[in-house]
Amino acid sequence: MNGLHTLTIHEAYDLLRKREISSRELTQAVLERIEAVEPRVRAYITLTPDLAMQQAEEADSLLQAGDGADVLTGIPIALKDNLCTRGVLTTCASKILQNFVPPFDAHVVEQLRQRYAVFTGKTNMDEFAMGSSTENSAFFVTRNPWNLDCVPGGSSGGSAAAVAADMCIAALGSDTGGSIRQPAALCGVVGMKPTYGRVSRYGLVAYASSLDQIGPITKDVTDCAILLNAICGKDRRDSTSVDVPVPDFTAALVSDVKGLRIGVPKEFFAQGVAPEVAEAVYQAVRLLENLGATAEETSLPYIEYGLACYYILAPAEASSNLARYDGVKYGWRTQELAGHIGMVEKTRGEGFGAEVKQRIMIGTYALSAGYYDAYYLKAQQVRTLIRRDFDRAFEQYDVLITPTSPTVAFRIGEKADDPLAMKLADVCTIPVNIAGLPALAMPCGFHNGLPIGLQIIGKPWDEETVLRVAYTFEQATDWHRHRPVL
Ligand code: GLN
Repeated sequence: MNGLHTLTIHEAYDLLRKREISSRELTQAVLERIEAVEPRVRAYITLTPDLAMQQAEEADSLLQAGDGADVLTGIPIALKDNLCTRGVLTTCASKILQNFVPPFDAHVVEQLRQRYAVFTGKTNMDEFAMGSSTENSAFFVTRNPWNLDCVPGGSSGGSAAAVAADMCIAALGSDTGGSIRQPAALCGVVGMKPTYGRVSRYGLVAYASSLDQIGPITKDVTDCAILLNAICGKDRRDSTSVDVPVPDFTAALVSDVKGLRIGVPKEFFAQGVAPEVAEAVYQAVRLLENLGATAEETSLPYIEYGLACYYILAPAEASSNLARYDGVKYGWRTQELAGHIGMVEKTRGEGFGAEVKQRIMIGTYALSAGYYDAYYLKAQQVRTLIRRDFDRAFEQYDVLITPTSPTVAFRIGEKADDPLAMKLADVCTIPVNIAGLPALAMPCGFHNGLPIGLQIIGKPWDEETVLRVAYTFEQATDWHRHRPVL
């Protein structure tokens, strides 16, 4: 059989279950695809072909035995390089962790291993997940499979590019201010950030702990629900993971939005949103209206302060989280002899990239005595106002629909020297993290051959309605079937 690398999880599962293909054949096809296109896309920091083939063999024995196999058994999955993998390099795309081999698995990695998924490797990202283009990777830039001169988005750009280029069947990413949804949008695939507390972050290298969530990046909405099923749930090793029932998310894949109330917040169409993006999103809303939903414009006035609020809170938390990289226990240590304090200073000076250093300085400043009230505390208060804006909106609407990224993918280098322009790439996604809500990005059109992404935002813990709207839209369109030519 040809083209196995192009399959979705559910298509592959169907063939695996009927024994029309083996996981070995599927994994081999994905590895061959990687060999063919990875030199141009560069989605992976570390490839694990030997591990993948060994896991595929184990999966095949299980599939042959017939019992104990899961929908993810034998499915090649890529992992963002900030998810700890036992025995496999986990760099966070940073020099300071360039030799770090974790002795343990992240919770989500454990969950996939228990289901006998296959790991293709660790994907490129912005260093410590700080960025929107993968240009902040300490190692190399990942390219957008739709146009190799453009960025794939970030920070989970490697995961999104790998899915779009069929260099894995699905992937995991992390999202602090948009890092799953924005690259998914720019690469024309599906990405979801679950409700804050849905997924344990045990073993996710922390960036901003009150915002970070792990989530799926997939080729369609069905795969998104499947992967979500595997990673959600309470884990005592992450005290922020919440003990709420985890539904079977695939049960929400119903093509029906009759009577559903959609809010379209006008603030998400301001602040640099390109007309072609706005138009594609409005068209998507009209389509859902034709399918029986009602939609109206609404306003969330405090969204305007989302970016400013985030760029105090996220660096503040990062400055604390990144204090652990001191060259003592693990990671990079300077080669120069400089005494203890000097060793820590030099280690951090050599190990962190410019963007990370800038964030540590901003965060330290915002938290320091005398400035704490003016910046950090104020940002926390603004956070409450933004959350209340969403609460009010969800009294009237079941979901909110907005663009995911204000523009299609931009050219490599285009925004590298303009930090404000780069940060505006997350203007539509950041408020969702601030409020801890679930949201999904999916393709809804093209401009100049590059994908446009829709964002569907849901009430806390209501991933199901988000998935239902996404599934309905997907059934009525064929944007998800377009693939880049490589
Ligand atoms: N681009 C945003 C940042 O740089 C969000 C990144 C993310 O979600 N990890 O912080």
